Amino acid sequence: MNTQRKPLIAGNWKMNYDHLQALAFLQKLSWSLKNTAYDSSVTEVAVFPPFTDLRSAQTIVASEKLPIKIGAQDVSHEQSGAYTGDIAAAFLSSLDVSYVIVGHSERREYHAETDSLVGKKSAAALTAGITPVICVGESLQQREEQGTVVPLVQLTEVLAEVPEGAEFVIAYEPVWAIGSGQAATAAQAQEMCSHIRSKLRELRGEEVASATRILYGGSVKSDNIAEFMQQPDVDGALVGGASLKIDEFTKIVQYQTGLAE
Ligand code: PEP
Repeated sequence: MNTQRKPLIAGNWKMNYDHLQALAFLQKLSWSLKNTAYDSSVTEVAVFPPFTDLRSAQTIVASEKLPIKIGAQDVSHEQSGAYTGDIAAAFLSSLDVSYVIVGHSERREYHAETDSLVGKKSAAALTAGITPVICVGESLQQREEQGTVVPLVQLTEVLAEVPEGAEFVIAYEPVWAIGSGQAATAAQAQEMCSHIRSKLRELRGEEVASATRILYGGSVKSDNIAEFMQQPDVDGALVGGASLKIDEFTKIVQYQTGLAE
């Protein structure tokens, strides 16, 4: 964590909770954050519900002025037209969506998404004023055979499609740590996030490298978040399973309490 960059705690709900559950969850989350004196000027919170929940999420966040940003889990790389089942970035932006996850390993694996497509999706999001959260990460085999290379190649290829001057967030998510209960160590997360920042420096210059937030994702829980957040190049977390539990997610957002103890 670096004080120049505002930490972002992002909850990826994946394919969980319908729109009614989303309404109840967001209401309870906001109470829980309020009870623990959450300060949105210190840490940013975003939730990424399924598409069908977004309108409900927008309504409750806007009407009750909840200090929670809304993200989507995917976006089309096209603007409009004959793309059955796809969702345009402009549609998301009209629902006050601030962020969109692109290139999550589950989309890469189950929908064969390539780096080039992830880059085009990032560009489409940016055109609509939405900040992409660009996911990169290696499998266990890739790590054993190629060390830190794969996430850096992914980043390079994705950014080839992203215009200069664009703002984005990067999420380093080692595939072996996602949903496995076996998080990377804080040192492993720092090592890769530091390589990612160096790669950003090489590709986009110092200003972008030092301003861009790099999140760690993969089995983040309330008992390991503080360690990750103490690393100089880790600026937040992309949280899957633990973002579905109000108490657990609140503790993750309030990781500063853990640092103070
Ligand atoms: C994720 O889906 O991005 C993720 C990190 O999941 P989990 O926290 O459950 O490992």
